[in-house]
Amino acid sequence: MARKRERQEEPQVVRRNLEVRFEGLVGQAAALRFLRKALQKGVLPQVLLFSGPRGVGKATAAMMTAAGLLCEKGNQGPCGECLPCRKVSRGIHPDVREVGLELVEGSGKARTQIVVEQVRTQVLQPLALPPYEGRRLVFLIDPAEALNANAQNALLRSLEEPPSYAQFFLIASNLSSLLPTVRSRCHEVVFSSLDPGEMRAFCERAGLEGIEEPALAAAGGSPGQLLALQGGEGAARREVVLRLLSEGLNLSSYPSLHPILETLAKENPREVVSMAVGLVRDAARIASGGEPLRHRDVAAHLRAAVAARGAAGLDELAERLAQAPAQLAHNVNPRLLLDRLFLVP
Ligand SMILES: [Zn+2]
Repeated sequence: MARKRERQEEPQVVRRNLEVRFEGLVGQAAALRFLRKALQKGVLPQVLLFSGPRGVGKATAAMMTAAGLLCEKGNQGPCGECLPCRKVSRGIHPDVREVGLELVEGSGKARTQIVVEQVRTQVLQPLALPPYEGRRLVFLIDPAEALNANAQNALLRSLEEPPSYAQFFLIASNLSSLLPTVRSRCHEVVFSSLDPGEMRAFCERAGLEGIEEPALAAAGGSPGQLLALQGGEGAARREVVLRLLSEGLNLSSYPSLHPILETLAKENPREVVSMAVGLVRDAARIASGGEPLRHRDVAAHLRAAVAARGAAGLDELAERLAQAPAQLAHNVNPRLLLDRLFLVP
């Protein structure tokens, strides 16, 4: 069992500068209390199942706990400063191995299952040898519900009798596809959605300013979901709303904008309205000689909206937008509502 193996070149998810101290996670007080205590007493179960909604911090907590196991400064939780903690933080610790959905070769798409071959090469083979640097060899399987039945069966023995140096974290937001035999070998730690106060605290911590209530509500107590809405999808949505503000729905823009608007109306009309409110506010600031507050990165587009609608037009639109949430709550057809909001005669 000497450290003779070659380091395998496997794609690792690089999380740059993840805060590995427990203080970095907002919410999840009960789960963190359990993890802290177990680390302090040296009684952390070797096979942990972190269950709960998507995007509430399960994988982050697993990384933090992994750092706590590898930290040089004892068992008081990860210090965040020693070399092992920093390596975990940067996603480059050789004894922390992440197993997840891989990309299909030649395409940008992720597989939908973690298959048995992956379990063999990424878990069972490395598990046969002790850790390189630390006291523990940590496996983080995320999403564990993606393990197909064969893959789960291949894992069973290792979960039942793991080597003393092994630590498993199974991360799952849907437990129904986990075999009872697998679940029975895990110690489950339950994570929950954040309450509104915790979501606010998360926004503050993440430097997300001026998030409107509808956007917070759409995230459903999941910081991960909120970031997704603000990021990728959110950016695309903002682009559409910006076009609606500067061009409006008219004869020439209708063919290209209307289908997108229709999709947005189906998916999340409140989010569109809330985004438009923020953008119109910033445009109004520009119209009155000021600077945008939230959407500084798209100031040029906002100026185009000011030029197209004028201060009076923006005021009028702001008024209509202010009434939109109540109208949506009263079952007004979302598509018609959005059409009317942005229609320019
Ligand atoms: Zn440390």
